[in-house]
Amino acid sequence: MLETTNKFFTRAADHLELSDKLRAILQTPSRVVRVELVTESDDGNLHHHLGYRVQHNAARGPMKGGLRYHPSMDEDHAASLASLMTWKTAVVDIPYGGAKGGINCDPSKLSEAELYRITTRFVELIKDVIGPTTDIPAPDVNTNARIMAWIMDEYSKFYGFSPGVVTGKPVEVFGSLGRDEATGRGVMYALEECLKTDSRGLPDVSVALQGFGNVGSHAARLIAERGGRIVAVSDSSGGIVNEEGIDIPALLDYVKEHGEVEGFTGADALPGEQVLTHDADVLIPAALEEAITEANAADVRAKIIVEGANGPLNVAAHDILVEKGVTVIPDILANAGGVTVSYFEWSQNIQQYRWEEERVVEELEKIMRRAYQNVAHLARVSDLDLRTAAFVLAIKRVAKAAALRKSASRFLPKSVLS
Ligand code: NAD
Repeated sequence: MLETTNKFFTRAADHLELSDKLRAILQTPSRVVRVELVTESDDGNLHHHLGYRVQHNAARGPMKGGLRYHPSMDEDHAASLASLMTWKTAVVDIPYGGAKGGINCDPSKLSEAELYRITTRFVELIKDVIGPTTDIPAPDVNTNARIMAWIMDEYSKFYGFSPGVVTGKPVEVFGSLGRDEATGRGVMYALEECLKTDSRGLPDVSVALQGFGNVGSHAARLIAERGGRIVAVSDSSGGIVNEEGIDIPALLDYVKEHGEVEGFTGADALPGEQVLTHDADVLIPAALEEAITEANAADVRAKIIVEGANGPLNVAAHDILVEKGVTVIPDILANAGGVTVSYFEWSQNIQQYRWEEERVVEELEKIMRRAYQNVAHLARVSDLDLRTAAFVLAIKRVAKAAALRKSASRFLPKSVLS
């Protein structure tokens, strides 16, 4: 996965004619932490997991990025996702760097008590390298507000009351209103901005969506509320399809009760992977990385892809789709709503002042629409695809900040200073 991120980085670096030295500085993470988590299971045996935190770049502010609990979590994933966070926070221009981490565990096989022990042990082992002014974790795949509350509580045992050490917390314990839905809301704004280009709106499009977790379910709800027709949805249990438009509130109730989309009676069953190639105007992959590769890219029928997930397209798939004329709204732009509201939450924690939900929504909307327009403008004037344009914009911002902090602007090429 890191290879994919680095290839996309390299394209933008080539466009900017960056020196090898500057590329190496910008690509190399500043710290990679791996910890051994040996904890007791409920039956008295021992669990052994590996925990990771990769801190990529802090030139533009404290490092920020989620924690993923998944059997596939490893250093390569953490490094790739940490790098994406550096570029993502720069694209939306919030004052953060990038980091990412997680644990190679399967939470569905752990009791709440086991998950709590693994999480608090992880915090105990990484507490010296995270903190409200250094590195601030947040939820990602299989982690949620409850786990963020445990992290805050455990960290505060060592350093005193520290709500700003982690974001995505429950609203009852220093979380922000609107954080839960923020990534999905950002996906919806990015899609709306894209549709505006040819004078369309959400009521004009049908949408297929892979993944019905935090990102996918909120994106579906918000798009449907504005008249978009969600025709196909999948999660790890399988897929469902209804050309008339799936009743999303009913599906949300069903998933709340059953934990998965399979068996929902308001739609027909469909093999999960066919959702990606379903005949819809828009495809939102919002599950895991590399959902679309050279194996299925040519079969994708959507004309717009909004990357709700991080890295859902590999390089070959991206190129096949762009070549076909598909507009790909890249992850570092499309799913930046979550980290943006995490920034609002952190600001509220530092100021000890709670924002109204309307303010959160209003500021998020402003940031997402502006970021989309900035990237789209750069893509237009420089004849780049949206992903390369987003990387170019981000790299310029990070490189400038890094150089200014070291009195080293003279080493930057003109392309970065412009
Ligand atoms: P989540 O755990 O809440 O949901 C993941 C969903 O994907 C679940 O519905 C799961 O069943 C589904 N899924 C897993 N494998 C699948 C498969 N093979 N086919 C179809 N569906 C599958 O995770 P999330 O927080 O929604 O994150 C999803 C993606 O969005 C990840 O790539 C994550 O890094 C990215 N992301 C999340 C946030 C956030 O705020 N949560 C922010 C930015 C990016």
